[in-house]
Amino acid sequence: MPIRWIDRLTKIARRKSPWVYHVNAGSCNGCDIEIGPCFCPRYDAEQMGVILQGSPKHADIMLITGPMTLRTCEAARDIYEQMPKPKAVVAIGSCPATGNLFAGSPTVPGSVELYIPIDVHVPGCPPRPQAIMEGIRQASQLLADGKAGKQQGVSS
Ligand code: SF4
Repeated sequence: MPIRWIDRLTKIARRKSPWVYHVNAGSCNGCDIEIGPCFCPRYDAEQMGVILQGSPKHADIMLITGPMTLRTCEAARDIYEQMPKPKAVVAIGSCPATGNLFAGSPTVPGSVELYIPIDVHVPGCPPRPQAIMEGIRQASQLLADGKAGKQQGVSS
């Protein structure tokens, strides 16, 4: 069956114009500070069609920073549920993957992946803005290919 033009247009839009929502799950703010410049003139993610959204209900991609703390896990899961499908999650920094230097703390139950499926890991403490933008690009590609939300284990 031929691909309908609307399906092709949707695929292009998912790859070329992802809207992202940022969640801080208990970060030290190092990773959050690196996300900011992605949307400033120097790196200019908007030039690639990436728009930072104020509501998870309008977002295709969640950027999550920090280790998951006991206080944030339910809220982060709730935000994830509010995002429309298809959706992807990009874990920024080493904290969401392992807890990093917060691992072992009684307030950090473990990897973010225990609560939310992660599609792309961007390693670093903190990662550079270029690496974050590459993570967003990979997540957009997964969305366009219909592979997001399936825990592909992609890393940047
Ligand atoms: S990965 Fe490093 S910079 Fe990012 S939140 Fe964790 S400790 Fe902070």
